Amino acid sequence: MQQYDIAIVGGGMVGGALACALSSSNLSIAVIEKAEPKPFFKEQPMDLRVSAISAASADLLKEVNAWNAILAMRSCPYRYLETWEGPNSNLLFDSQQMGHPQLGHIIENRLIQLALWQQMQTHSNIELLSDATISQITRVENGYQLNIGDDIVHCKLLVGADGANSMVRSAANIGVTSWDYAQHAMLINITTEQPQQDITWQQFYPSGPRALLPLSENHASLVWYDSPSRIKALSQLPLSQLKNEIVEHFPNRLGEFDVDNAGGFPLTRRHAQQYVKDHLCILGDAAHTINPLAGQGVNLGFKDVAALSSVICNAVSRGESWWDKRVLQEYESKRRPDNLLMQSAMDVFYLTFSNDSPPLKLLRNTALKAAQRSAWGKKQVMKYAMGL
Ligand SMILES: Cc1cc2nc3c(=O)[nH]c(=O)nc-3n(C[C@H](O)[C@H](O)[C@H](O)COP(=O)(O)OP(=O)(O)OC[C@H]3O[C@@H](n4cnc5c(N)ncnc54)[C@H](O)[C@@H]3O)c2cc1C
Repeated sequence: MQQYDIAIVGGGMVGGALACALSSSNLSIAVIEKAEPKPFFKEQPMDLRVSAISAASADLLKEVNAWNAILAMRSCPYRYLETWEGPNSNLLFDSQQMGHPQLGHIIENRLIQLALWQQMQTHSNIELLSDATISQITRVENGYQLNIGDDIVHCKLLVGADGANSMVRSAANIGVTSWDYAQHAMLINITTEQPQQDITWQQFYPSGPRALLPLSENHASLVWYDSPSRIKALSQLPLSQLKNEIVEHFPNRLGEFDVDNAGGFPLTRRHAQQYVKDHLCILGDAAHTINPLAGQGVNLGFKDVAALSSVICNAVSRGESWWDKRVLQEYESKRRPDNLLMQSAMDVFYLTFSNDSPPLKLLRNTALKAAQRSAWGKKQVMKYAMGL
């Protein structure tokens, strides 16, 4: 039997960041991951799964020494964010107004994970158990026991960072409030003739937004939200026909481009009814998923990491029972209201913009124009989105 203080199930972006953030506590940590991320090489095509990383998340990744490794691979800082619906309703955010060199970075999820894996390997109190299949999770005295092949792992604290369909959450009988959005998202990687790397933009349509996220060099990620049946039909098209659909239905801003890769994703909102129990907690997508239209999912996960690691490290330094629900509850109290607020804010956007009602259309375009004229209002919105 292998004995650890903490076992983190899921070595993705959130689980990896948590392990690194906890390394200073000197607790022994196992990170159990079912699929090792593929290594990076420069000529590799861009992954479909990318995230808009806020300034606050970049700060966390700097604190755990993963940021420079990300920059050394691939990333794309952007200075402007523009959103609009009808003509002349454009709302433009500029990083200069925020006194920052950029509003955020678009980064492939796997590269964030790889940088965190590199860091984890530098800490002697972190052990990475990769390509591991957990067959059973059992509550035992003083913690949890995990069966992994022929091995048994025991831990005082079991952490679920294992994504939306969390096995840890199910094993702990933690329920979720959830619903499916009436939209799916298609992610499409393109290579453009003209560079357009300093701006991310999104136009709202009644069937859902259409957006561009810049990637490094002349690459970009398009996001097309639409009904599940439309996304399914688009996913089945050869890339050349998909390109024709994009030319016809996306804002006329792309110039000449090639389609490299595409895939559709269902969208579900979930919120776990509890984040903590005795000897157990969950965070990141295991605790909450959100409509990705403002790119906030993993940024919330990184805020969970900052809160949970500080609660555990403080309890360790005070000699408290850091695995106890009463201690871990402080993490849940800090994070639940913020996660709920962001989920609800995204739903207001989703519900307000996803319909064709003329009065509502007039109202939202008037609101966008008014917001564009309010420098103070724009600053507050951007501060929130940047996690400042
Ligand atoms: C279309 C789309 C676009 C998005 N865009 C953005 C964006 O721009 N910005 C943003 O902030 N967020 C975005 N998100 C959300 C973001 O992708 C998630 O919030 C983020 O991936 C959550 O990270 P995580 O580490 O919690 O979970 P995951 O990324 O799901 O990682 C979970 C890890 O656990 C491992 N695992 C799972 N089960 C087990 C098991 N039983 N045993 C061992 N290992 C296990 C998995 O292999 C994986 O490595 C988007 C989501 C979607 C669907």
